[in-house]
Amino acid sequence: MSRRFERAVFLDRDGTIIEEVGYLDRPERVEFFPWTIDAIRVLNRAGLAVVLVSNQSGIARGFFTDAVVEDVHRRMGEMLAGGGARIDAYYYCPHHPDGSVAAFAKACDCRKPARGLVDRAMAEFGVDPAQSFVVGDRWLDIGLARTVGARGVLVRTGYGEREEGQPPGGIKADAIVDNLIAASSWILNNL
Ligand SMILES: [Mg+2]
Ligand SMILES: [Zn+2]
Repeated sequence: MSRRFERAVFLDRDGTIIEEVGYLDRPERVEFFPWTIDAIRVLNRAGLAVVLVSNQSGIARGFFTDAVVEDVHRRMGEMLAGGGARIDAYYYCPHHPDGSVAAFAKACDCRKPARGLVDRAMAEFGVDPAQSFVVGDRWLDIGLARTVGARGVLVRTGYGEREEGQPPGGIKADAIVDNLIAASSWILNNL
């Protein structure tokens, strides 16, 4: 039985928690930003569930297997634990409609900005999306926030700086900040 949380922070992975390196195919390539561990620890201490939500279409495309993604997340968990921080759940979408691996080559309800990964957190932890936050470096992360009724924070790391200047029509972030530690501060000030 999982711990219950009313609120969550849904964190994008690549370009938000770790450096964007293209398709991350080896755990050794995981590189946290200098502030990542502090940023996650303050969210832990505020009593928020910290839930990673990541599109990993590299699985559907045959670039790497889901076992590799699990290894990456295990490595991240070890690095976080060393600094007294914790991600409560690691959720990812392995699908893509144009994939080459039959089992994952499909339209799904969990590829962001679709809401499937958030629904998992609602079921597992009792999270209320309306009291929750999404942080990411792409407009699709903000789109996820809009889809589920959460607040969305765009960070300028990863693709964020480029994305900031090219918002798709009609979408607005609740905040645009330099990085994850600034996002954590904004969240604590807006609980
Ligand atoms: Mg990203
Ligand atoms: Zn999916």
